[in-house]
Amino acid sequence: DDRIPRISSSIRVIPDFPKPGIMFQDITTLLLDPTAFKDTIDLFVERYKDKNINVIAGIEARGFIFGPPIALAIGAKFVPMRKPKKLPGEVISEEYSLEYGTDIMEMHVGAVKPGERAVIVDDLIATGGTLNAAIRLLVSFGWICSVNTTAVMLLHGLDNGTDAWLERVEVQVVECACVIELPELQGRDRLGDNPLFVLVSST
Ligand code: IMP
Repeated sequence: DDRIPRISSSIRVIPDFPKPGIMFQDITTLLLDPTAFKDTIDLFVERYKDKNINVIAGIEARGFIFGPPIALAIGAKFVPMRKPKKLPGEVISEEYSLEYGTDIMEMHVGAVKPGERAVIVDDLIATGGTLNAAIRLLVSFGWICSVNTTAVMLLHGLDNGTDAWLERVEVQVVECACVIELPELQGRDRLGDNPLFVLVSST
């Protein structure tokens, strides 16, 4: 696709940010190029528009730039996956490891419903730890719902014991979508069976 080289060349690389040895992929220069920005959104929209996606889950902060225009274009809802203590309502949390220490990602309870089909959006995958946490958040939420629903059904004496039923109530992560992948860090390997779609690979 001849849109990819323009997207790739619009991303600026800043050495030694935020610390020595890191080659930071800066997507703010992509945002300064309206054609490259539109092409980026269009490529994701073309991929997801006919796939019955209900949820675009965007990861703070740069998933909040790319996620909402994709969600609007395909008629999906946008769900922010946020850093801790930012969301005002009841949340569920997942802890994940960073290079030094850990961080926490949170999502509002009720933002997604069992059976919905989600795509997780971020600007970049490095080690895959962030996307791994986002997947766990969406899937574990599915299980919380299914356990609650199981309890309700048991109370009413309904048969709910089939695998097919359990499968139906989980939030389904259809794919993770990033603008940039750093393939040397093998982040894909941390996503389990969940597919990853990227526009640009960077060495
Ligand atoms: P991971 O968890 O190691 O895959 O790191 C991915 C997360 O760190 C994403 O949320 C990115 O926004 C951020 N990140 C890591 N490296 C870069 C970079 O070079 N440019 C922009 N974001 C980065």
